[in-house]
Amino acid sequence: MTDQAPGRPSAARAEAVRGWGQGWRGARRAGRIAVILCLLMSACASQSSQAEEPLTQPIQKTQGSTAMTDDWKTKSDAYWREHLTPQQYHVLREKGTDRPFSAPDDHGTVKGVYRCSGCGLELFSSQTKFDSGSGWPSFGAPIAPDHVTEHVDNSSFMTRTELLCQRCGGHLGHVFNDGPAPTGQRYCINASSLDLDSKEAP
Ligand SMILES: [Zn+2]
Repeated sequence: MTDQAPGRPSAARAEAVRGWGQGWRGARRAGRIAVILCLLMSACASQSSQAEEPLTQPIQKTQGSTAMTDDWKTKSDAYWREHLTPQQYHVLREKGTDRPFSAPDDHGTVKGVYRCSGCGLELFSSQTKFDSGSGWPSFGAPIAPDHVTEHVDNSSFMTRTELLCQRCGGHLGHVFNDGPAPTGQRYCINASSLDLDSKEAP
């Protein structure tokens, strides 16, 4: 019995040491798991930031004609519904028409380039803008012939020439032969189809 007395503390000490050792090993294991978790989380974080990159695409639309690709014509209906206002969607994607005088018209007093409100392609210059009295923005010519596509439109019981954005296929308006000199053309465009870029002088 007498030798058990000093034995107890030593046994307890051994137990404590073993416990400390287990605790330390446990802590070390927990630390290793924490490091692995951190690595996994940072990997996930970088993956999710890559996945979010397509959301930055609308910024590219201001790059204009430098990105003449067919990608814009393959955009989904869901994309357009997300990136356009309801009125822009109605005009560009459903061939709708703005009510006349529905948007303030500067009649060319503000200098700049009018871009497609869907994809950002340059369409018209303020230099050819004129007051047609129709209530819709009117231009004598597109900024470049190949930026606007013409299409025969037999809707509404008449034959007209519809105008589409060359890059995204969005509906812009119609062209008529009753414009002023020098072109004699009146490109009658919905304001909802246009974004004025006043920083870019024509
Ligand atoms: Zn467009």
